[in-house]
Amino acid sequence: MSYPVTLIPGDGIGPEVSKAARRAVDATGVKINWEIAELNPEVIRSTGQSLPPHVIDSLEKTCVGLKGPVTTPIGEGYTSVNVALRKRLDLFANVRPVRSLPGVVTRFQDVKIDMVIFRENTEDLYSGLEHEVVKDVVTSLKVITRVASSRIAEYAFKFAADAGRKKVTAIHKANIMKLADGLFLRCAREVAAKYPQIEYKELIVDNAAMQLVIRPEQFDVLLLPNLYGDIVSDLAAGLVGGLGIVPGANMGENHAVFEAVHGSAPDIAGKGIANPTAMILSSVLMLIHLKELSAAMRLQAAVETVYANQKHLTRDLGGTASTEEFTDAVVAQL
Ligand code: ATP
Repeated sequence: MSYPVTLIPGDGIGPEVSKAARRAVDATGVKINWEIAELNPEVIRSTGQSLPPHVIDSLEKTCVGLKGPVTTPIGEGYTSVNVALRKRLDLFANVRPVRSLPGVVTRFQDVKIDMVIFRENTEDLYSGLEHEVVKDVVTSLKVITRVASSRIAEYAFKFAADAGRKKVTAIHKANIMKLADGLFLRCAREVAAKYPQIEYKELIVDNAAMQLVIRPEQFDVLLLPNLYGDIVSDLAAGLVGGLGIVPGANMGENHAVFEAVHGSAPDIAGKGIANPTAMILSSVLMLIHLKELSAAMRLQAAVETVYANQKHLTRDLGGTASTEEFTDAVVAQL
């Protein structure tokens, strides 16, 4: 049996790290029928759309995507590709597991960080509802709904229960945004009440940022609205070694798109030095979604062994290996 998957290489370092992830997945022996869908600034400009039909048709058919970073041309009126994709396929949950990897030198060497971030993906300040009231006076609407808040809370708690996690922390600023973040919290509390076995905590986002830096090991599952989720995810990535190693998943009822947290990193694009770990670990999440658990565990273990050996680290983590050398080492482990 082979699984159809839409592979969007993207731009910048996207094609390099996507190639690495594809090699790693193929090396697990799981048969994937890769459908390549090109999406980058040139394709966006030539089709006049952030999400041209060939991309959306493929994802609607395969229901599973592995996506490299795509740069949306700025100042030309295009909607962000990621925002458009999340809205169009209703990918309401952004899930980012942030874990310490063996052999990666960080400021948090002696603590084991193992948290999973659940970020609401469809609303909040990302609704794009901005308005110039009069010249030089602008409003930007933060939209929070019961439907979306309850849905992400349910998703996070169900994951926590299924994965045997102990604690969910909802992050908010309800002391200031009493109505908007207040509603988000009410929904989180209602869902928490259905899971008495899981400890539920709330933290104001500024305090959460400080706690994450001071004692990151106290966090287990984090539940956040869209904007705080975006910022806290990058902060958390920094705790374990940076953007090069943190994977992500955008999950909906019917579709799932897996992608690294990092962007297209134009400064290192085309040099063959990007760290493909985030993209490879995103494909581990994809294998779990496809219920290929043994392949997922083998690929995760292969990456961890390469890190533990410390011989093939890429430059962002103090090594000298190229994207290809790192990938060769992972494939050799498999
Ligand atoms: P975007 O706005 O598209 O998210 P960005 O410019 O904010 O992008 P990234 O492109 O994610 O941020 O990268 C920021 C910096 O982190 C890059 O310039 C690059 O130096 C480094 N970086 C990101 N991803 C990787 C990677 N996979 N390997 C090595 N370095 C990386």
